[in-house]
Amino acid sequence: MIRQRKPAARSALVIGGGIAGMSAALALAEVGVAVRLIDSDPDWKVYGAGITITGPTLRVMKRLGILDRVMAEGWTADGLLACDAQGAELARIDTSDAALGEVPGAGGILRPALHQMLSERVRASGIAVDLGLSVRALAQGQPRQVTFSDGSSAAYDLVVGADGIFSATRDMLFPGLPAPKYVGQVCWRLMTERHPQIDRRTYFLGGPLKVGMNPVSPEGMYMFLLEPVPQFQRLPDEALPGRLAELMAPYGGIVADVRDAITAGSTIVARPLETIFLPEPWYRDGVVLIGDAAHATTPQLASGAGMAMEDGLVLGEEIARADSVEAALAAFQGRRYARCATVVENSLQLGRLERACSTPVEQIRVVEDALKKLNEPY
Ligand SMILES: Cc1cc2nc3c(=O)[nH]c(=O)nc-3n(C[C@H](O)[C@H](O)[C@H](O)COP(=O)(O)OP(=O)(O)OC[C@H]3O[C@@H](n4cnc5c(N)ncnc54)[C@H](O)[C@@H]3O)c2cc1C
Repeated sequence: MIRQRKPAARSALVIGGGIAGMSAALALAEVGVAVRLIDSDPDWKVYGAGITITGPTLRVMKRLGILDRVMAEGWTADGLLACDAQGAELARIDTSDAALGEVPGAGGILRPALHQMLSERVRASGIAVDLGLSVRALAQGQPRQVTFSDGSSAAYDLVVGADGIFSATRDMLFPGLPAPKYVGQVCWRLMTERHPQIDRRTYFLGGPLKVGMNPVSPEGMYMFLLEPVPQFQRLPDEALPGRLAELMAPYGGIVADVRDAITAGSTIVARPLETIFLPEPWYRDGVVLIGDAAHATTPQLASGAGMAMEDGLVLGEEIARADSVEAALAAFQGRRYARCATVVENSLQLGRLERACSTPVEQIRVVEDALKKLNEPY
């Protein structure tokens, strides 16, 4: 493709090499910006849990050029299944929608596999990657002068804060903002062999807790379970299998099969759910926050990763089309605020319904309405 005009930024620093940061780096490099990506983790590693992928997330994965690999190495299928606590089918939610184009309606993947796919593309795109590095200070002015943790400094037309829910960039840009808030639920995740009956995202509703399973590859799946806990207290690793099996005790059918297969060596993560949604604007003087740094959601709609990738792509598009960085960031903000609010607000609403043990019908309606909205173009 022959580019007609120069991008609004010649250089960009992306702080954080997670899903948002890598997507932004790829999108900015594609439109001709010289991109440097840094991550504070010297090993650039992610932990081994699975994530659920929605149709809109698959659409953005296609745009990022990783859909074929996701389909080959992860799992995709159409439709979601809602079952009762004993595993009897309650409803099938259709995820197909012409607005999504030629992508499946749902899927799942292991975080390390997704990280591998994105990071290989980043490395192949000529993006400079520096690991074990963070930002010590951001000076005022344009271009932005950045001082790094190793004492070096450099100037960039655009700085992208993609450093996750506990973003240090956010603290530098908007000091005094409240910290992310714990929502009173702990998310348990168990990585295990795929149960033969789990061939798509499946929820088990109407029991004391919300439980779901999702394939992440032909062989593997993960189970999540949301436990209401007023005050989070971390359990020692060796206590996780026993406590998870206890929480699954009221369930029959597939959940009981999975519970009976838990061993002391099972891969289990228990994480408190926290959220933050920044008021507009998410940018100031050439520095913009994207992904969880700006809008960290609880996982009920399984859309945090999709929103993070869309942020990156929209940023690239607006930098390509605008006359100035400021104009690009204003346009970016206009396209992202309401869409990300839909995800965060509906996820919190689902959390409230779960804690109030609301009916499956009520919860399914919120999921269907929100997913339909998200199928619309970003
Ligand atoms: C329990 C749970 C389950 C979830 N399940 C799903 C799901 O099923 N589907 C889905 O779509 N989403 C899910 N999400 C949401 C999704 O994980 C996030 O929205 C997504 O990872 C956000 O990506 P990010 O790049 O913004 O942040 P992160 O993935 O957190 O990446 C931030 C990166 O920045 C780096 N970093 C941090 N601080 C610094 C610093 N100071 N300097 C430089 N680098 C730094 C980190 O090392 C990391 O690489 C879930 C979230 C949780 C908590």
